[in-house]
Amino acid sequence: MQGFEHLEEELQQMKTDSVFRSLIPLETDQGAKVMINSREMIQLSSNNYLGLTTHPRLKLAAVRATDKYGAGTGSVRTIAGTFTMHEELEQKLAAFKHTEASLVLQSGFTANQAVLSSILSKEDVVISDELNHASIIDGIRLTKAARKIYSHVDMASLESALEASQDYRKRLVVTDGVFSMDGNIAPLPEIVALAEKYDALIMVDDAHASGVLGRNGRGSVDHFNLNDRVHIQVGTLSKAVGVLGGYIACPQTVRDYLIHKARPFLFSTSHPPAVTAACSEAIDVLLDEPERISRLWENTAYFKEELLKLGFDTGKSETPITPVVTGDEKKAHELSDKLADYGVFAQGIAFPTVPKGQARVRTIVTSDHTKPLLDEALAAFEKAGKELELI
Ligand code: PMP
Repeated sequence: MQGFEHLEEELQQMKTDSVFRSLIPLETDQGAKVMINSREMIQLSSNNYLGLTTHPRLKLAAVRATDKYGAGTGSVRTIAGTFTMHEELEQKLAAFKHTEASLVLQSGFTANQAVLSSILSKEDVVISDELNHASIIDGIRLTKAARKIYSHVDMASLESALEASQDYRKRLVVTDGVFSMDGNIAPLPEIVALAEKYDALIMVDDAHASGVLGRNGRGSVDHFNLNDRVHIQVGTLSKAVGVLGGYIACPQTVRDYLIHKARPFLFSTSHPPAVTAACSEAIDVLLDEPERISRLWENTAYFKEELLKLGFDTGKSETPITPVVTGDEKKAHELSDKLADYGVFAQGIAFPTVPKGQARVRTIVTSDHTKPLLDEALAAFEKAGKELELI
């Protein structure tokens, strides 16, 4: 169909620059091994940290909920789409995160948008780490508050932003708990100390820390023992929790306010019973099976150490997100393609997801990877890395 020449041109340029990517459909469930193009591959690109996407208890909860309550909810939460199971899940999440309340949204993305677009006004300011997730950036674009960006995890830069913000009614400091492309942990104790010094509110997006850090995977705030000192914790139900959704763990006042003001909450239909019940079951599994988190960290330590021994640059990663930095964009995609040839699914990530010149293959090991699988993946990295003269 005619009319999209302006897009064609841009897409053509992306092809010339080797950054055009096609979607890669999986033909199996999301496990440590997946089938792609009828080939079995070791999965190193999913956020299924604890293997919960295929956990029998989650699957059974989803089936039972569908059977009893149907496939969909038929309404937004504020009209007729709140089922008792939605509120039960929210109470469970609040207890898990040690907050007064929580509110579930369709995704982590919309959870960030919901908070940032609604709780601040033009007399306020939001102060955000430069490498925060796209959903935080987009949420900030929707607020009427003033915006300041501080250099990545740079406390001097944060302090000068706070210092220059004292005339605003409210200051909100927002950070990822674990940064999604580098796998480093935000220095929350320092951030909290500075925020308290300048009487600022704090919001942490714990998408990659929930299920990974803290007691039973309670997240980065719990990891640093900062419960009660962080005002808002956003989490996702789509990564370690293994299903889909996002939530805002917060004081009751914030929940009440969001229900009335947050547009992604007000104007989008609630989660189907299968999703809600599986998420709820997943929180119970986190409490019942802490060995999954231990395995995740054992695998992480082993894989990272071996990549370093091979001579790869893994950046500043401190968590299961381990980037293999190539710098050059084309090299990142070449590495990813070669790994695919050798049976490893690890996606190349380039601009605009990461800054120019910092392209990488991003890997995430899960609790479900066995040592032989990790060794197989490492052998593929060694072979591909040598062929591309990265090591
Ligand atoms: N925040 C961060 C830091 C993320 O990495 C992501 C996922 N890419 C999200 C929020 C969005 O979560 P979801 O996939 O549930 O929308």
